[in-house]
Amino acid sequence: MTTRILRDADADLGALEGERIVVLGYGNQGRSQARNLRDSGLPVIVGNAADTYAELARGDGFEVLPIAEATRSASAGLLLLPDEVMPEVYATEIAPGLQRGDLLDFASGYNVAFGRIVPPEGVDTVLIAPRMIGPGVRDRYVDGSGFPSFVGVHRDATGRARARLLALAHALGSTRAGCIEVSMHDEATLDLFTEQGFGPAFGRVLMTAIDVLVEAGYPPEAVLLELYLSGELAYTFGKIREVGMLRQMDFHSRTSQYGSVTRSGKFADLDGELRKRMGGVLEEIRSGGFAEEWSEQQATAGPLLEKIRAAREGLPLAEWERRTRESLSIGKS
Ligand code: NDP
Repeated sequence: MTTRILRDADADLGALEGERIVVLGYGNQGRSQARNLRDSGLPVIVGNAADTYAELARGDGFEVLPIAEATRSASAGLLLLPDEVMPEVYATEIAPGLQRGDLLDFASGYNVAFGRIVPPEGVDTVLIAPRMIGPGVRDRYVDGSGFPSFVGVHRDATGRARARLLALAHALGSTRAGCIEVSMHDEATLDLFTEQGFGPAFGRVLMTAIDVLVEAGYPPEAVLLELYLSGELAYTFGKIREVGMLRQMDFHSRTSQYGSVTRSGKFADLDGELRKRMGGVLEEIRSGGFAEEWSEQQATAGPLLEKIRAAREGLPLAEWERRTRESLSIGKS
């Protein structure tokens, strides 16, 4: 069965008529989503503590209220706070202000999927998870192309949750590019798997390639330029998106095509091991094991991440990258 893509034509902005919308949090996603909704003609206010984010929102022309007060005053809320602080802020400042018939939208399924937040029964609970970083959510709205999202109804309390969800996705500029309907659990799992299964495996391959070439005597600058600093790899990924993984091969020389096709068999026996390890990572995520661990570790994770950051700076790769990027003026606009 082909997955159905939800488009502008599937949405009716009228489903949000008479609603007052609050964007809770004015960070990466909050700022972009609030401005997109306002430009689509919806009445939007911002909920935030009185600090620099609140000043930024006021500077952008929004009415800003403390989170609890903003929640009480609106009928539809977009929770755009960092996932790790969301459960506590939800419990203390948001949940008490929710009323039967309200709409609650999440940009990540994580907290609901893994039981960190349990929205009340009378509240429509939906997901619009952009496959796009915050600035891109705004830029793609402004240039008219929109951005894709995973969307879903977690709880339909009013019988209108899907219509409200689609109207919101339309106003954000997401149905313009196309939305795929998934559960909160599936969205969170796919997201975490990309970070924990695909990312580290891909990173390992890259690091091994660097080690092999530098140890064989090639200058680090030349190795990094060849592998990724030239931008060719990023460009190729762009082509993979445009024409597909298999068809982008046509853009490479015949020598390149022959060499990579005939040598791919040398790595085929890694498949079994990779599948086993990725399967393990997937299972840990799906079972809620990772979410459990992360909840327990959050208090102590700061110093650990700092330590890793410091160790990272001490790696020869950090110095090679700095030298190469500087001498080739890479990353300077
Ligand atoms: P940000 O880190 O940019 O959020 C910052 C905002 O959260 C600020 O308004 C800040 O206000 C507020 N905030 C932070 N800590 C607290 C706190 N303890 N109490 C109250 N408010 C707080 O978050 P993102 O925009 O990156 O993420 C928001 C949601 O969007 C998440 O669910 C995330 O998974 C999802 N998402 C993010 C993407 C991205 O590209 N970043 C992509 C797709 C989805 P202040 O500190 O002033 O109180």
